[in-house]
Amino acid sequence: MALTYTTIAHIQSAHAELQKTFREQKTLPLEYRRRQLLQLARLFQDNHEGLCKALYLDLGRHKLEVSMPEICPIILAAVRAAESLEEWNSPEKPKVEEWRSSWDTTIYTVPKGVALIISPWNYPFATTILPLIGAIAAGCPCIIKPSEFVPACAQKLAELFPKYLDASAYRVVNGAVAETAALLELQWGHIFFTGSGPVGRIVAAAAAKNVTPLTLELGGKSPLFIDAGKTDIELAAKRILWGKQQNGAQLCVAPDYILVLHQHQDATVEAFKKAYKTFWPHPKGALDPLSEYGAIISPRHHARLLEFLRLTKGTIVLGGNAEGSKRLEPTVVANVALDDALMKEEIFGPIIPIVPVDNLQQAIQIINERSTPLVIYVFTDSEDTKNEFLRSTRSGTLTLNDTFVQLGVHEMPFGGQGESGYGSYLGKFSFDTFVQRRSYINVPPAAEPFMGLRYPPYTEEAYQA
Ligand code: NAD
Repeated sequence: MALTYTTIAHIQSAHAELQKTFREQKTLPLEYRRRQLLQLARLFQDNHEGLCKALYLDLGRHKLEVSMPEICPIILAAVRAAESLEEWNSPEKPKVEEWRSSWDTTIYTVPKGVALIISPWNYPFATTILPLIGAIAAGCPCIIKPSEFVPACAQKLAELFPKYLDASAYRVVNGAVAETAALLELQWGHIFFTGSGPVGRIVAAAAAKNVTPLTLELGGKSPLFIDAGKTDIELAAKRILWGKQQNGAQLCVAPDYILVLHQHQDATVEAFKKAYKTFWPHPKGALDPLSEYGAIISPRHHARLLEFLRLTKGTIVLGGNAEGSKRLEPTVVANVALDDALMKEEIFGPIIPIVPVDNLQQAIQIINERSTPLVIYVFTDSEDTKNEFLRSTRSGTLTLNDTFVQLGVHEMPFGGQGESGYGSYLGKFSFDTFVQRRSYINVPPAAEPFMGLRYPPYTEEAYQA
């Protein structure tokens, strides 16, 4: 499907119009924000089927995998934000020392200004709209720039936005590198970027030129430790395989590689085989036409994954079959060494390397020697193991005994650490991202009796006091 790119002239005029809207304070009244949030919820409710179809066209993703992680959470988050506007925007009165109590010290939440959201192709609705909900709730006009690799989704958003939202405040810009570069030359109140590390660095350099606040939601290799012997290994394999087949494992929080003790590797592989059979009992497994298993985004990315399988020195013990230029079945590779091709960069596809380790300490050491991951997953029933990971590792999230589900808990911030990014969002944390906490004080003339000592001429007596 062909995507209509926004012209550079239109990008500049849209930005100017949104700046004007912000200067005129149109997006400030809470009633306005509430209406836009409810309209956004309505957009996703009314067009649920159409949006699922767009993602099916772009990624071959089953509608359950669109509805559950993207459309329903968006509707819920927009409605919750609309209901929370008063609470989130209430000025705070910090507790101050008694002698400053008459100063009317207040912290106001104010919108940072016109915002820019740049998103990836893998979860095109969630990664664009969940931050947008924060921007609307904060009172920021906003331009969203979806990925050009999901043309049906990007086109659909461009069509629907003006039908539901105030076009003087919320716009879709479509395009690729040139269009994003043009956006990045402009002045923004906040930039929210989700995508790869290399592009994140380009965005950060552009933001630095204008001293623009930035959120970077990046990816990387998220490790998973199976504390076999201290966990139900069959349940673990089922939950891991589920997380690692969603959207063909093209998921920023997909477990990237698995660490397990040498003596438990065979049992882990058997558990994966069993889980695989229950998920795809059809003759051709996950690649069977009946399986509804998702596609790989592009022939280029597909070729990259096959190259990993060609280069690995590990043993393919499950899967390994590819079909055409867009399908690859979930594939488990055992006995993967730390310098293997599969351990060099984020896999972003349905390959599960198993790296056998001697003990828990070695697993933690391997994790800590690499860049800080978005998520660390641990499957264990042991309090000691849990505490060891809490104490000795760093990551955006530490998830125990399941995969992927942390993204559904909007009461907690979601974001990275180190090379997996900075800043966070979801629920109120999305709102926090797009507001400045502005301090306000008013020192009344009546406070003058407390000020006498500060004025020159300075004296030893004042210093001693
Ligand atoms: P990407 O970085 O290639 O593209 C992201 C966005 O940047 C797209 O809108 C694209 O048009 C734009 N872009 C690409 N090249 C650019 C350039 N040179 N200059 C300016 N803009 C440019 O990422 P992707 O391939 O779409 O997504 C996959 C990556 O995103 C993975 O690394 C994944 O882990 C990460 N991701 C992270 C999260 C998270 O929440 N942390 C969520 C989803 C995906």
